[in-house]
Amino acid sequence: MTVQIDHALEEIRRFRPSPEFAAQAVAGTRLYEEARADRLAFWADQARSLLQWETPFTRTLDWSNPPFAKWFDDGTLNVAVNCLDRHVAAGNGDRVALHWEGEPGDSRDVTYAELTDEVRRAANVLTDLGIGEHDRVAIYLPMIPEAVVAMLACARIGAIHSVVFGGFSADSLASRIDDAEASLVITADGGYRKGKVFPLKPVVDDALAKAEGGTVKNVLVVRRGENDIEMADGRDLWWHDTVAQASNEHEAQGFEAEHPLFILYTSGTTGKPKGILHTSGGYLTQVAFTHKNVFDLHPETDVYWCTADVGWVTGHSYVVYGPLANGATQVLYEGTPDTPHPGRWWEIVEKYRVSILYTAPTAIRSFMKLGRQIPHEFNLRSLRLLGSVGEPINPEAWIWYRHVIGGGSIPVVDTWWQTETGAIMISALPGITDLKPGSAQVPVPGISIDILADDGTPVEGEGGGLLVVTEPWPSMLRGIWGDPERFKETYWEKFGDKYFAGDGARRDEDGDIWLLGRVDDVMNVSGHRLSTAEIESSLVAHPWTAEAAVVGASDETTGQAVVAFVILKASQVEHVTDPSDAAEELRRHVATQIGAIARPRQVFIVNELPKTRSGKIMRRLLRDLAEGRQVGDTTTLADTSVMTAITEQVR
Ligand code: ATP
Ligand code: MG
Repeated sequence: MTVQIDHALEEIRRFRPSPEFAAQAVAGTRLYEEARADRLAFWADQARSLLQWETPFTRTLDWSNPPFAKWFDDGTLNVAVNCLDRHVAAGNGDRVALHWEGEPGDSRDVTYAELTDEVRRAANVLTDLGIGEHDRVAIYLPMIPEAVVAMLACARIGAIHSVVFGGFSADSLASRIDDAEASLVITADGGYRKGKVFPLKPVVDDALAKAEGGTVKNVLVVRRGENDIEMADGRDLWWHDTVAQASNEHEAQGFEAEHPLFILYTSGTTGKPKGILHTSGGYLTQVAFTHKNVFDLHPETDVYWCTADVGWVTGHSYVVYGPLANGATQVLYEGTPDTPHPGRWWEIVEKYRVSILYTAPTAIRSFMKLGRQIPHEFNLRSLRLLGSVGEPINPEAWIWYRHVIGGGSIPVVDTWWQTETGAIMISALPGITDLKPGSAQVPVPGISIDILADDGTPVEGEGGGLLVVTEPWPSMLRGIWGDPERFKETYWEKFGDKYFAGDGARRDEDGDIWLLGRVDDVMNVSGHRLSTAEIESSLVAHPWTAEAAVVGASDETTGQAVVAFVILKASQVEHVTDPSDAAEELRRHVATQIGAIARPRQVFIVNELPKTRSGKIMRRLLRDLAEGRQVGDTTTLADTSVMTAITEQVR
């Protein structure tokens, strides 16, 4: 059977780069030309020009044992030196690396020289604790500078970090500690979230009691929340008693380019998280390259802010490794967007004169829900580039982002990538690409993407199919930790030597790529394959809607029927007195905009949607609800009570 996804939603808005932006853009069309002429030579050039190698490499790619790639494998480098020492050596030690902002309003600027010192001290402490090359270190910290220090200290000594998002439970932490057989945990007493101190160390204690491996020998604790905690004698150490006292002299050695850098578990949107393994040289090359060119980074003048937590891949690649490798100045914010007031993010943009902002559609839609009057209380004129990642951005949310946050004229780049890809794979390049709201647009230079039907034949024309990466790329995952078979099965079984990403996509008449949502979520209505992303975008295009999720529920006549869950904008809620009228209006709207085939069988007006802790909608739970089943595994949900609330609203 040849499976294609039908294409329904038409989006015709186009935005040319302004001549002023284009004139100063870091990227140039020559990048595409060079990559097209010789892909491997192109990546070798990037690796040489963006990074400092201890031993230069002579081999670019070894793909003799697919799907296990080796990039630059006879070269050596130290990732931490690339992110720190070399900037200090180049005379940029006084440049601010981190403008750190705590949720309660305390703040701290950390220069490259200070960050380098701190990482050297931490590296000495880790070594003293017996941590060596290849040892695994679990990091369970709030968004404080020590999180960055801990990651880079591991990189500096060749240890492998596994960052676990600070919102995860003791069970999740325990299973990640066990899976990686971590010997050290770096945590804090607590951190600030939503105006309160949330305890971390007690969760670690719990997790260690639950962990079956018994691999953890020490716990290193940063003081942040000042909450009461217990310190186990001989096991637990304070950061300020150890790192702060340690020597700042540390000789860093080069490691092989394929030396493992970190393990990171995926968000778990579709099921059990996978421990994705990344290595050093290729990873750092592609994150540095994309960070510089996709975000048009001018390190001397820009203030960059990526709002992702370091517990997610976006925090690894675009808070820690990419920006620091490029010598950027960035904002690091500890707390939630709405604490102590709903304009907190915009206050931070104003305070630090942020010029580049990178965030997720879920955040943008939550600001849309509250209304433009909140960002408009602040001076956002320092912004000159906006980025989006994590889910398809609905065209209407893109337009809102560009107009309300960006003042109407600055570029918005939608970046498609995954934990597995390590770095951005599809994105516009600002100043070069004509922008289309809702489309991730084009593969970055040096990346080969295709769209295939189920049987492996390329989809011609505008139909949708399965997104694949057809050639190995520098920052690709090197495997699933401890499970090479699952690695092959999950990503390579379907199309042999092509990487299957699990997402649906289509190409438009200009060759631009539109992500259609996860293949598992595609609906089959009377033989038409409909994408979640397009119907959701249609719903969000209605002036009442802030956010929408659609799923396919089994239906006697059509096979599957579209069921939608919609959150209304705050400004509309009082006008909508009868939810069934609103539902009827939205059903009609989708039928008019896309066609009768996409008209939702039901539209439920809800207050919240089930999301992972990284803010992605978990449609499989809504499908359970729509089909009247017991709701499935909710362990990766940010807030498990949400499904109960939605169930009540729907019934
Ligand atoms: P799991 O694999 O455990 O289900 P996950 O896929 O949510 O979790 P991530 O690696 O954090 O884990 O997310 C990658 C996915 O996010 C992509 O496969 C895609 O579905 C979605 N995504 C990310 N960026 C974009 C984007 N710009 N446009 C559309 N979808 C995106
Ligand atoms: Mg995934």
